[in-house]
Amino acid sequence: MSRDIELIGLRQNNLKNVSLRLPKERLTVFTGVSGSGKSSVVFGTIAVESQRQLGETFSAFVRHRLPKHERPRAERMANLTAAVVVDQKPVGGGARSTVGTMTEVQALLRVLFSRRGTPSAGLASAYSFNDPQGMCPGCDGLGRTVEVDLDKLIDPDLSLNQGALALHPIGSAPWQIYAESGLFDPDKPLRDFTGEERELLLRGSGFKVKRGRYMNTYEGVVLRFNRLYLRRAREHVDEEARPYVRERTCATCGGARLNAAALASRIDGRNLADYAAMEVTDLIEVLERLDDPVAEAAVESLRRIEAIGLGYLSLGRETPTLSGGEAQRLKTVRNLGSSLTGMTYIFDEPSVGLHPRDVHRLGDLLLELRDKGNTVLVVEHSRDLIELADHVVDLGPGAGTEGGRVVYEGTVAGLAAGGTLTGRMLRRVTPLKERVREPTGRLTIAGANAHNLRNVTVDVPLGVLTAVTGVAGSGKSTLMRQELMARHPETVLIDQSAIAASPRSTPATFLNAMDPLRRLFAEAHGVAPGMFSFNSAGACPVCKGRGEIRTDLAFMDPVTRVCEACGGSRYSGEALSYRVAGRTIADVLAMTAVEAAAVFELPGVARLSEVGLGYLTLGQPLSTLSGGERQRLKLAHRLRERGRVYVFDEPTTGLHMADVDTLLALLDRLVDDGNTVIVIEHDLDVVKRADWVIDLGPEAGQHGGRVVFEGTPAALAHASTHTAKYLAKALD
Ligand code: ADP
Ligand code: ADP
Ligand code: ZN
Ligand code: ZN
Repeated sequence: MSRDIELIGLRQNNLKNVSLRLPKERLTVFTGVSGSGKSSVVFGTIAVESQRQLGETFSAFVRHRLPKHERPRAERMANLTAAVVVDQKPVGGGARSTVGTMTEVQALLRVLFSRRGTPSAGLASAYSFNDPQGMCPGCDGLGRTVEVDLDKLIDPDLSLNQGALALHPIGSAPWQIYAESGLFDPDKPLRDFTGEERELLLRGSGFKVKRGRYMNTYEGVVLRFNRLYLRRAREHVDEEARPYVRERTCATCGGARLNAAALASRIDGRNLADYAAMEVTDLIEVLERLDDPVAEAAVESLRRIEAIGLGYLSLGRETPTLSGGEAQRLKTVRNLGSSLTGMTYIFDEPSVGLHPRDVHRLGDLLLELRDKGNTVLVVEHSRDLIELADHVVDLGPGAGTEGGRVVYEGTVAGLAAGGTLTGRMLRRVTPLKERVREPTGRLTIAGANAHNLRNVTVDVPLGVLTAVTGVAGSGKSTLMRQELMARHPETVLIDQSAIAASPRSTPATFLNAMDPLRRLFAEAHGVAPGMFSFNSAGACPVCKGRGEIRTDLAFMDPVTRVCEACGGSRYSGEALSYRVAGRTIADVLAMTAVEAAAVFELPGVARLSEVGLGYLTLGQPLSTLSGGERQRLKLAHRLRERGRVYVFDEPTTGLHMADVDTLLALLDRLVDDGNTVIVIEHDLDVVKRADWVIDLGPEAGQHGGRVVFEGTPAALAHASTHTAKYLAKALD
């Protein structure tokens, strides 16, 4: 048995000299409130250090081409093994990456067709849409083509002189050719052009025209656009051109991606594109009937996909369209197929997006990974997964500066019997709430048919808290994020996506607290507010407002050290010579929201505590926030509004059971303030506190897409859906 992973004196982010021994080839779960330091241990320290040490084993040549990792703040880290991080980041690869290519099942099916398909198209690459031998020539294997969208490119109500050509501003060289060459009346709205004039403007070519002193070859607006932007741009449309194109299914292959020879080849009447369009669950049945060793190997992989609750996906589904939870589970499947052992696998809340029904199946897969001789580290809040742990590390006691310590380390039984917040929460049973709110009206979604929805008509009550439930893939997001929002565009979606902001954005800038803060300092001392900005007059002259000095060394990791001139504060000596309430501007930015709100009158900052983010410092870069933290920050921005309809997509992601209480109090407040709140959720504590539940199902994909229950949580507990069953269980 290999020795434990030894971590001594960890100080990354908020960690307070943490020391840990983690048993190898075991499942260790990290728990603790949001912001307590779980990620700082697992991702910020263990993953970074393993990758860094692995990097050092390569030759200088290779090392130079790998991402650079700086050593985490720790005294000693020993016995680490190579780490694989399985996270919720989207799977890359663009339109050429599908569930099939990512899991390598596609490759097996190609071999199957090359051997069993009739007539055979040839070798296995003749069936690949990513290979010139197999791809449809009309779309290069993408299944769709882009073409110019004339409605966007020209405005028929305007004349050339009024700027009818969206891409060619008045006065630009191309504009001169169209407007000043004498071919057209530049003051006539395009709508009034004759058919001939219109054709000449859009597709004319092959003759010379005079522009000022120059002779130019004429090229119509559409031809020019195609040449510049679409010629080789099937896969990647330039940012600049994207607003002017639309996608459509490829006319040659009808979206099947493959060429005629590959599509003509069939097994029992089905071609490879038919296979790719089927749901995994159905494809398993078809392949099992073939009685073929290659088909069997494919079935083995497909069963894993099904086991992890993704049986509703098709192999043809493009990976960029998967949700974060789906992407993470697929990555898990891929790793399970690998024969590597002795690795450290690190998971970030793998239960995200999973219905309670499917969580135990995920747990089985994590144990399978462990039993192959790997060390599995999981950051998790789900009780069901915590209960599977061989070893638990509970961080806390609070968040940010209030956290960063190990409050419990040991078995789950010990955790559940102990006095930490996590331990107490594990023992708690939340009851249904006694009285539900009466709706003040309703929003109707009628005849919803997107994706798997089966002509769904449902009323969403206004002025109450509604939970939308159902197994993954049943249609919750499609119904609420797509269909509801298309019909009622005033609806506000609050999810965990990145906040569009500059790398220098902070909670203070996001909540518009920075300007008042600078004014406060400026007025107190009679200087310009710019003095208190590290992006302008106030920047430390040595580090230019970056707070650190980075030295790139040829064959080693870059070295960054805190700027000595400003001590990392980013401000100039002069800026730091001014104080308000005894504090410099840098001192204020280093204060947590709670501390700052007690001293200064800053709009927005007080709201951070209301959303449970009181531990963030005013100056923390937004890029370091987790998805859950981002979601609550967006919520903080909205807290004083009324009469709105909010859709939250899994707002409990990243939240400890105790944080869920805080969140629920907030959602209740939003409703009591006259708003409507809809949450897509699996967390039964949230369902119990809802006024109304819309449950989708009965299963996922084409076996889902219907409303299987509408009513109060109390009524749901007596119904017979999957959600009902688990709700009833969570009540005793
Ligand atoms: P958890 O994973 O338990 O939610 P984290 O380890 O992400 O907690 O965060 C612990 C604390 O460190 C929090 O206060 C968080 O805001 C802070 N933090 C996380 N990443 C960074 C960073 N890159 N820079 C500064 N502070 C950070
Ligand atoms: P849920 O939110 O309940 O997990 P979704 O609404 O995401 O379910 O998915 C419902 C069905 O729609 C599933 O079969 C899923 O594969 C399909 N689907 C979702 N998004 C897309 C997409 N972008 N392209 C194709 N199919 C999709
Ligand atoms: Zn095609
Ligand atoms: Zn400096």
